[in-house]
Amino acid sequence: MEQTFTIQTQSPDETMSLSSRLGALLQEGDVLTLEGDLGAGKTTFTKGLAKGLDVKRTVNSPTFTIVKEYKGRLPLYHLDVYRLEDSDEDIGFDEYFYGNGVSVIEWAHFIEEFLPSNRLDVRLTYLEGDMRSIKLMPKGDHYIRVCEELVK
Ligand code: ADP
Ligand code: MG
Repeated sequence: MEQTFTIQTQSPDETMSLSSRLGALLQEGDVLTLEGDLGAGKTTFTKGLAKGLDVKRTVNSPTFTIVKEYKGRLPLYHLDVYRLEDSDEDIGFDEYFYGNGVSVIEWAHFIEEFLPSNRLDVRLTYLEGDMRSIKLMPKGDHYIRVCEELVK
C-alpha cells in the first residue's frame, strides 16, 4: 500500500514553515509536484520550500514564464505548467528533472508523461478560512525517507 502523510495547517506561515523544513531535506535532482485548486497554496508552499533551500530572492508565481530558476543551496526550478494544458510539448523538462537542482511543478498533471516516476506528489486542499490540508504522496524510497524525517 502506498504510504501517504497528511498535515493540516492553519495559516500561510504554517504552510511555509512546513515546506521550509522540507526544502532543507531535499537533494540534487529531487522533483516535487504540487496539485490543488487556485488559491489552495501551491505558490505559498513553494515560497517556504525556497526559504529552506536558502533562496534569497522572492518567489512569485511563474504563470507567464513556465519556468523560473532561483539560486540557493541548490538551484530551485519553479515550474507552472498550467499553460501547457492540452499540449504535449516537451520544453526540455529533463534538463530540470535530471539536473542538479530541485524542481517544483505546479499543475504537474498537464505534463504527466514527462514526469519521473520517483518523485514527491503534494496535494493541497482548501478546507475553510486559512485551513489547508497538505497530503504528501512519496513515490520511491528516497521520498518516503524525506517525509518520515519531516513528520517525526
Ligand atoms: P495557488 O498557487 O495554489 O494558486 P497561492 O499560494 O498563490 O495558491 O495562494 C494561496 C492563498 O491562500 C494566499 O493568499 C495565502 O496567503 C492564503 N492562505 C491562507 N491560509 C493558508 C494556508 N494555511 N496555507 C497556504 N496559503 C494560505
Ligand atoms: Mg500558484
